[in-house]
Amino acid sequence: MDESGSGQGENTVRCAECGAVLQEGQDRQATEGGVFCRACFEGLTSQLRQVLDAQGQDVAYGAAVAGGVAGAALGVLAWWGFTVLTHVAFGLVAVVIGIAVGKGVVIGAGNKRHRNLQALSAAISAAGFVYASYLVNRTFIHKAYADRGEPIALPLLPPPELFFRVVAVGFGIMDLVFLAIVLYEAWKIPAPVEIPLGRTA
Ligand SMILES: [Zn+2]
Repeated sequence: MDESGSGQGENTVRCAECGAVLQEGQDRQATEGGVFCRACFEGLTSQLRQVLDAQGQDVAYGAAVAGGVAGAALGVLAWWGFTVLTHVAFGLVAVVIGIAVGKGVVIGAGNKRHRNLQALSAAISAAGFVYASYLVNRTFIHKAYADRGEPIALPLLPPPELFFRVVAVGFGIMDLVFLAIVLYEAWKIPAPVEIPLGRTA
């Protein structure tokens, strides 16, 4: 009722972990998750740090690459299939490449998250995006030639010069925007989780 603060009133602060009443002036840690006594905060922080350190340890990089490539294959097929079915090269659909690669890398690595996995994911996604651009353009070029009565067949694994000439067809600023979105998704997904208790109020 009154504001004199007998220690059990509404102003009583309890540790969010052990429930002990925190006396005025007692060492404490205020976080977004509540106020903790010093002992609980240190204990929780070290537990959390162990869990978070483990997310970047014993990363199975071979399996991470395999997972990323599998994700890229799925994403590339999805984008190319969408384009063949709709006859529209809708670049935003390419975002699925970044998401599929990012998830593939994390799952392949054994649910690990690390800067190296982020770089790996971004590299595989970029390659997947460029190859998907090749497949999409290849489909349209095939159609254009077939419509003129001169059907051609470009290889699925072309020599580099042909590859880049085909990719360059109609490559514009929007493709760079879509590539940036793909890279953003691929980079974000394997990012290490930060320590939330570290942010003090
Ligand atoms: Zn406590």
